[in-house]
Amino acid sequence: MDTPAVRTTCPYCGVGCGVLATPRDDGTVAIAGDPEHPANFGRLCSKGSALGETVHLDGRLLEPQIGGKAASWDEALDLVASRFNAVIREHGPDSVAFYVSGQLLTEDYYVANKLMKGFIGSANIDTNSRLCMSSSVAGHMRAFGSDTVPGTYEDLELADLIVLTGSNLAWCHPVLYQRIAAAKVRRPQMRVVLIDPRRTMTADIADMHLPIRADGDTALFVGLLGFLAKEGALDHAYIERHTTGFAAALGLASFCDLDVISQHTGIAPDQLLAFFTLFARTERCVTVYSQGVNQSASGTDKVNAIINCHLATGRIGRPGMGPFSVTGQPNAMGGREVGGLANMLASHMQIENAGHRRLVQDFWASPAIAARPGLKAVDLFKAVGDGRIKALWIMATNPADSMPEADHVAKALKACPFVVVSDINAETDTTAYAHVLLPAAGWGEKDGTVTNSERRISRQRPFLPLPDKAKPDWWIITEVARRMGFAAAFTYQNPAQIFAEHAALSGVENKGSRDFDIAAHAGISARAYDNLAPFQWPQSQHAATGGGRFFADGGFFTPDRRARFVAVPPADTGVIDQRFTLNTGRVRDHWHTMTRTGKSARLSAHFAEPFVEMHPLDAAGRGIADASLVRLNNDYGDIVVRALLTDRQARGSVFVPMHWTNQFARSARVDTLVTSRTDPVSGQPALKMARVDVQPF
Ligand code: SF4
Repeated sequence: MDTPAVRTTCPYCGVGCGVLATPRDDGTVAIAGDPEHPANFGRLCSKGSALGETVHLDGRLLEPQIGGKAASWDEALDLVASRFNAVIREHGPDSVAFYVSGQLLTEDYYVANKLMKGFIGSANIDTNSRLCMSSSVAGHMRAFGSDTVPGTYEDLELADLIVLTGSNLAWCHPVLYQRIAAAKVRRPQMRVVLIDPRRTMTADIADMHLPIRADGDTALFVGLLGFLAKEGALDHAYIERHTTGFAAALGLASFCDLDVISQHTGIAPDQLLAFFTLFARTERCVTVYSQGVNQSASGTDKVNAIINCHLATGRIGRPGMGPFSVTGQPNAMGGREVGGLANMLASHMQIENAGHRRLVQDFWASPAIAARPGLKAVDLFKAVGDGRIKALWIMATNPADSMPEADHVAKALKACPFVVVSDINAETDTTAYAHVLLPAAGWGEKDGTVTNSERRISRQRPFLPLPDKAKPDWWIITEVARRMGFAAAFTYQNPAQIFAEHAALSGVENKGSRDFDIAAHAGISARAYDNLAPFQWPQSQHAATGGGRFFADGGFFTPDRRARFVAVPPADTGVIDQRFTLNTGRVRDHWHTMTRTGKSARLSAHFAEPFVEMHPLDAAGRGIADASLVRLNNDYGDIVVRALLTDRQARGSVFVPMHWTNQFARSARVDTLVTSRTDPVSGQPALKMARVDVQPF
């Protein structure tokens, strides 16, 4: 008889859908959407519903390896601990680093962050979430004094206007797209505006598509702020009572003449007027933004330009209103909560704050606490390349493909004296550079929690046995910590104990900012943890219920409890040469470097090979025919992919998906073409704004 269905969550995007997984006697797994999960109410997208096709063990890393040879766990763990200790003794704590992932569960993340920041005493732990949403984190911090998403998914159904900017929701967060599409059928007065250089599939539900020039978003929303002021659409009472800095922000918006904004954004003045008027007149408005905003050298300014418009109209934290950052990965948010970014401390506390450092150190009873921010992802790999980082542990991610200037990253890994990789796969472009390979548990075997884009914490539960010698990430990190000499602080026997400690830390006295507070779950028992139903934070010790929305009545987490307008200048979007602007991103049916979705023939059939989307007129000008092979190159890299000609692509720009690696198509690693230019505030790389030559192959 088949085992009963296990309630878990999808391992892909930040929507965080609930999944019912039923292992069958024949070894397959039946997958269905969980009708009771508040993120998806039973819906799943193509990737989620194909999860059962991706859990087989082909290609899995099933035993530890040292130098390419099988080793015991004791040998591998002893070697990792002793080499890290030796490097720290000789060169100091900042000579080692962890590069982790939004694929880790919160418990894994918590233990990794505790080991690096509290016991090694460095903040050199950064995550691939840096590539995903760190500009949103920085924008939230600047405006709210905390990394707080104010709204809930329900707001997307209650709004009368949804503005989607830098978000191909139809392919990248499909269940949220489905929820909006269904709400639009129920409430025909709802309007959707899509702001994107490409006319993506999301345009199918859009009433208006604004084909914005790459990096034109700041100018657009600064211009919108000026327009709102001119039209008398501001909420002066909210501005007066709950914010500071409005005059300076408005001062920079004084260029709001439609012709000037049109020059910055590439959007025609009449389209601008139509959008601005719709925004001004529609109170229930949510602005959804994602990687098209974040992955930019001006990503944080874009986020604040959007937030400014919501603060100025008081449209925040009320039903159907607010700025809404949608995260890319299943646990990008959980990583933020435990302090998994190099510039954060645990539990939303700040590394630059001596009081916070003392609180965390006392709580952990740790010998050392990182005193300053560590290296952010791009700088971290530069430090690997120039020899400052001498021992690196990579967990659950594939930076040899996914980092900008990916060939330089691969070269840096090759030269690094000691590289440890924890992964579920034996052969990725990154595992090739590992001195030690550690077999990690995969989805369906792992046990822990994740947090989705609306602050909802859900359980990922195991329904398959750990294969061969694979182990959960939290166990691997704990064992290394013990062998490094920190056994007393790393006594965990199961993930419930880690979650209980994480929850207790969130409720410590004198923490200041109480946005992230799940102290209601401090000391949770293993049984209660196992039965934990999805919940939104905050859930403090003092409140019977929690979750919901933030900031309708102010109460920001700044010292004066007021939100800060940020005066942002529009970014320079001028064309700098005759080459094409390269935009990168996801397709509907693949995930990151395809280590899981590449196992499903059904998913691979959507796009069977890598391609470049290009406007037919641009292609004609270069002698490129539809479906022919095309070379894209610049000083950093050189790839060959197939031409897909479509007028969905704006003139002067091309789009190449991010997924294909050496494993699947030797010539198509698109991040080899992307420069390591980053946002000066968030450190997020500009993954959507490289310049490339495009020629027939
Ligand atoms: Fe998974 Fe995202 Fe699809 Fe939901 S929308 S099933 S979380 S990939």
